[in-house]
Amino acid sequence: MVLGAGLAGLLTARVLAEHFPRVTVLDRDELPETGPAFRPGVPQSRHAHILWSRGIEVMERLLPGTTAELTGAGAALLESPRDLLWLSPADWFQPVPGARVLIAGRELLDWMVCRAVRRDRRIEVLGGRFVTGLVAGPDGRSVTGVTLRDRPPLAARLVVDATGRTSRAPAWLAALGYPAPEVTRYDSHLGYSSRVYALPAAPGTAGSRLQGRTDSPRGGVLVPLEDGRWLATLVGNGEHAPPTKDPEFLEFTRTLRSPALYEAIRDGEPLTEPTGFRATANEWRHYERMDRWPDGLLVVGDAACRFNPVYGHGMTVAATAAHALDQALAGLPARRIPAECRALQRRTVAAADVAWQIATSEDLRYPWTEGPPPDRATRILQRYMSRVMAGANTDPALSSAFFGVLSLSTPPAALLTPGTVLRVLSKWRLPTAPDAPPYPAHTP
Ligand SMILES: Cc1cc2nc3c(=O)[nH]c(=O)nc-3n(C[C@H](O)[C@H](O)[C@H](O)COP(=O)(O)OP(=O)(O)OC[C@H]3O[C@@H](n4cnc5c(N)ncnc54)[C@H](O)[C@@H]3O)c2cc1C
Repeated sequence: MVLGAGLAGLLTARVLAEHFPRVTVLDRDELPETGPAFRPGVPQSRHAHILWSRGIEVMERLLPGTTAELTGAGAALLESPRDLLWLSPADWFQPVPGARVLIAGRELLDWMVCRAVRRDRRIEVLGGRFVTGLVAGPDGRSVTGVTLRDRPPLAARLVVDATGRTSRAPAWLAALGYPAPEVTRYDSHLGYSSRVYALPAAPGTAGSRLQGRTDSPRGGVLVPLEDGRWLATLVGNGEHAPPTKDPEFLEFTRTLRSPALYEAIRDGEPLTEPTGFRATANEWRHYERMDRWPDGLLVVGDAACRFNPVYGHGMTVAATAAHALDQALAGLPARRIPAECRALQRRTVAAADVAWQIATSEDLRYPWTEGPPPDRATRILQRYMSRVMAGANTDPALSSAFFGVLSLSTPPAALLTPGTVLRVLSKWRLPTAPDAPPYPAHTP
């Protein structure tokens, strides 16, 4: 039984269907039947979502043909930074290949993935089921089902919590007598504000991304949606959080490090009001470190570990964790799976390691970030990564290596091979943060 029909829950259900005769996914929301629709349980769908190449690869492996279905419905499969005008903290990236990225409205993505999962007759996805707690076996050492609001409890041999960032697993475990998990948290107080536009003319690139940096902690992205609409998502830390009102939303885009986004949307017609989002802290609930763990329970996706979304990793990590679970279950008979949950929890959450390192070390560049202070290794990593990024702006080989890691397709060690280190060192004189990077000509 999988709790939550977000990306983590759906891909996990697909993996479990190879091991159990029947998998049931429960979601608190009524799930759309005929096409993409907003769901209150996934409020982040109002904001730009990108799926990096590693996430695309795993989704395709688990649900073959989904990428083509998505692009057929209007999602954009792009090469970053070639197809995206991208201002890094140092400078503009050259339009060279780097990593594949899928850009789709989050509602479209969820609906299509859910539809693909539902084609598997072993999986049932049920909406309108609000889970309120876990049921324990008579020994108290195993989870044997869930309780629901306004419905009778349901039994299951394995329960997977994929209820996202609002997961109540710590309280549910406490009710069974388990201690709270250790939590590591870094909060750079990043705020989001997004709105959908109709643009009078395509902006000349397939999308754009303007990153902030410590001396100018404001940024934004403009990405295409299906049906020719565009989604502008603005971000800023602390007092720089983007406004959720008119005309301040547009005014904010004039204060970014480049006028590219302002120029792209200023003559556009806003189709929605701006919507904000503030709970963007990185938070790792270390269930994998708990001394005692019940049989028959796993916690996956944002429910276990969530990231500052500005690095675009949550969905890709949800996919790689499902892949890790798939590998860990290979050869394990279904009857033994509940008893192996402690080890499985460790294996699946390890998929979050690299994204966690990227998000927290980048957030720690901002002096106001709350959380354990950076150690020496993190500070060295930050300095090296500033150089990598400055070099990657102009050197296609470095750009490719950088995007390979950012997309979670290649391990970070790829940035430390002797060849790459030499390339980085050869660019040591490049400024890591020029004052006013010139705005490059669009080359659609
Ligand atoms: C503003 C923002 C922007 C983001 N941008 C990106 C991006 O560009 N790229 C990227 O990869 N990731 C991004 N993310 C992260 C991404 O949204 C998540 O990591 C991803 O959705 C995986 O989450 P999940 O499946 O664990 O949870 P969710 O997608 O949040 O799904 C949780 C599900 O559980 C259901 N649920 C909750 N409580 C209950 C309950 N009690 N009973 C039953 N069902 C319940 C909800 O209805 C929902 O369907 C972003 C996040 C935010 C907040």
